[in-house]
Amino acid sequence: MIELCLSEGLVVKVCVLASGSSGNSVFIGTEHTRVLIDAGLSCKETVARLEAIGERPEDLDAVLITHEHCDHVSGLIPLLKKYKKYKLPVYTSWLTAPTIAWGDFEPRLELFMAGERLKIGDMQVDTFTIPHDSSDPVGFCIEGDGVRVGIVTDLGYMPDSIRFHLRGAEFLLLESNHDLEMLKVGPYPWSVKQRVMGRNGHLSNDMVCDFILEGLDGRLKTLVLGHLSEHNNHPAIVHMSAMQALGHRSLSPNLVISEPRIQSEVFTV
Ligand SMILES: [Zn+2]
Ligand SMILES: [Zn+2]
Repeated sequence: MIELCLSEGLVVKVCVLASGSSGNSVFIGTEHTRVLIDAGLSCKETVARLEAIGERPEDLDAVLITHEHCDHVSGLIPLLKKYKKYKLPVYTSWLTAPTIAWGDFEPRLELFMAGERLKIGDMQVDTFTIPHDSSDPVGFCIEGDGVRVGIVTDLGYMPDSIRFHLRGAEFLLLESNHDLEMLKVGPYPWSVKQRVMGRNGHLSNDMVCDFILEGLDGRLKTLVLGHLSEHNNHPAIVHMSAMQALGHRSLSPNLVISEPRIQSEVFTV
């Protein structure tokens, strides 16, 4: 009874503002701290989507950057400029920071090495290397109010080190980028297909299923699959294959497919 009362007060709010090659941004908030993971939507769209869930950009405590690809940072500098009087800190790795085209803007940078543990307000943030074709890509596992939230998109495969970091997570946003057969017969040039399929490319639906079958922690309560390709995947395929894999494990987390360009519901974890 006491445990129930205590756990009722512990809530982390998560909303995928968008996930996919047309823009990535995730809001995570605890009672005292609010962060944005990536800013790949336009400034206007980021603000509108934050306001739609009752949040204001001026109340953000930080923006965390996974990597410098434009679908993750294209709205960052306009957002920082518009709210510059709040001097919003940007957490990015030492190697990623110089690859972002800051122009004449001087950001307030908080630099870290991939693998470092950060403290932002009442959040503890684990950073870890992910295999992707950018200078120093990272995933995040954020712990606040006693719950762990994992954000892992843009990765060519799922190494054991990532599985380790995701242990104990109650919420996970994971990439499920493409259906291998659709990619093979799809419209991309062969060189791009090779890049997407490569060890530093993007995670396929099959690789997500392998992870569910072999590595998914049974404590996970919500699994959001995102960064879906608009040309080489379909939400119904992602949902069906993930449900089958979860069924083999007799696991039944809340499974949500984050469709490209569409803001998710608000999750309270
Ligand atoms: Zn991306
Ligand atoms: Zn990328």
